[in-house]
Amino acid sequence: MRILVAEDDHDLARQLQRALEQSGYAVDLAPDGEEAKYLGETEPYDAIVLDLGLPVIDGVRVLESWRDGGIRTPVLILTARDAWSDKVEGLDAGADDYLTKPFEMAELLARLRALIRRASGHAEPLLSCGAVTLDPRRAEVRVGGEPVHLTAQEFKLLSYLMHHPGKVVSRTELTEHIYDQDFDRDSNTIEVFVNRIRKKIGVPVIRTVRGLGYRLEDPETDARPAGANGGNARRA
Ligand code: CA
Repeated sequence: MRILVAEDDHDLARQLQRALEQSGYAVDLAPDGEEAKYLGETEPYDAIVLDLGLPVIDGVRVLESWRDGGIRTPVLILTARDAWSDKVEGLDAGADDYLTKPFEMAELLARLRALIRRASGHAEPLLSCGAVTLDPRRAEVRVGGEPVHLTAQEFKLLSYLMHHPGKVVSRTELTEHIYDQDFDRDSNTIEVFVNRIRKKIGVPVIRTVRGLGYRLEDPETDARPAGANGGNARRA
């Protein structure tokens, strides 16, 4: 998962970058509205943290321009204290959530997890596929309840696939969502990461779709004939 942080307060931007990277996200920083607008238009972020008080182009204008351009990335706005009208303006311009400065980093991280989860259609905080579970709150992966140690890049890759189960994800798409802008990207390394993850988790949940990419699927469920799951529906 990759996040854009648009914040002109240098210290806060660095703090956000550090906290987000520690939580397993790739992060790009934009110090002004112009850069933020450009990056948001050209890079496929999974979520954006947008300070409304940005130089060059104001945050609300940046957000309006993204939404006018059809960019639907979840956006969390940061507003100054007591500026309730900014929140209203920001939400009306298409923000999905807001936080008032100063805020607790833990709250920002929780709100971002919720936005990313909802954007990819998940209601539950814990992502699972067969015996594999991924907890974005702890940046932790388990197989059959046992913790598995993944490197930061391996975690980012598996996290992206776990947020998009059943979808064919190309190597280019994975590259765009696990590396930040400054990283020297090489889509060949994706295959290396996938093989390492497969070895570490030991369950065949990442299927290669020849010529297209990878698909996350539960080997148990997907091996059954169509319709065989009908009896599993939980009764209220
Ligand atoms: Ca500011």
